[in-house]
Amino acid sequence: MGCGKSSAAGVEEPSNKPSVVFVLGGPGSGKGTQCAKIVDEFKYEHLSTGDLLREEVKKGGELGDKLKETMEAGKLVSSGMLVELLKKAMKDRGWEKSKFLLDGFPRNQENIDEWEKQIGNEAHIKFILHIDVSKEVMKERLLKRGQESGRADDNEETIVKRFETFEKESLPIIKFYEKKKLVRKVDSSKPVDEVYSAVQKLFKA
Ligand code: ADP
Ligand code: MG
Repeated sequence: MGCGKSSAAGVEEPSNKPSVVFVLGGPGSGKGTQCAKIVDEFKYEHLSTGDLLREEVKKGGELGDKLKETMEAGKLVSSGMLVELLKKAMKDRGWEKSKFLLDGFPRNQENIDEWEKQIGNEAHIKFILHIDVSKEVMKERLLKRGQESGRADDNEETIVKRFETFEKESLPIIKFYEKKKLVRKVDSSKPVDEVYSAVQKLFKA
């Protein structure tokens, strides 16, 4: 994938396109936890689609109410609106020269199509970070997180639905990027710092 033009001397000029790392993994796999560490060390801008949507919910109104309903059902929200929200957030953080960690995106084929449509060549997808761990561990972590998070979707019933959505819609996306050799995977069953050591290596590679 071409980023940066060659000058007459053949030296790569820095591209003014943002570099993007998609961070994928099931609910409660540790995406947010690892992203916070990557931000500290590697100076990426972190945007979690879940957090962006929860901010919209807080604003209330018709859109907020609709998003809340969708999230409480463990489903995915409409891609057009989500990518618009994402693009706006990327611009607000500074489009040019920025490095972005997009946490929880893309989660289905429609997300990818919409990304292509609204952003496509304007950004460079560096790689996909796959935070991998079993459903049992994710569930345990989500229930624990639910005790303090106040998140409407961290309850047993919604968790089951989120897993179904993840397996049906999001796992195929990871497989799709695997075929393109874009996926770098870490085992997230280990303690946070051990997982991060593996993540660190991938970001230094
Ligand atoms: P995600 O953003 O993927 O939904 P989070 O980063 O919010 O996941 O992590 C879910 C919960 O699991 C949090 O309460 C977090 O503290 C905990 N957690 C994350 N990674 C680990 C880990 N490697 N070991 C133990 N607990 C973890
Ligand atoms: Mg998260």
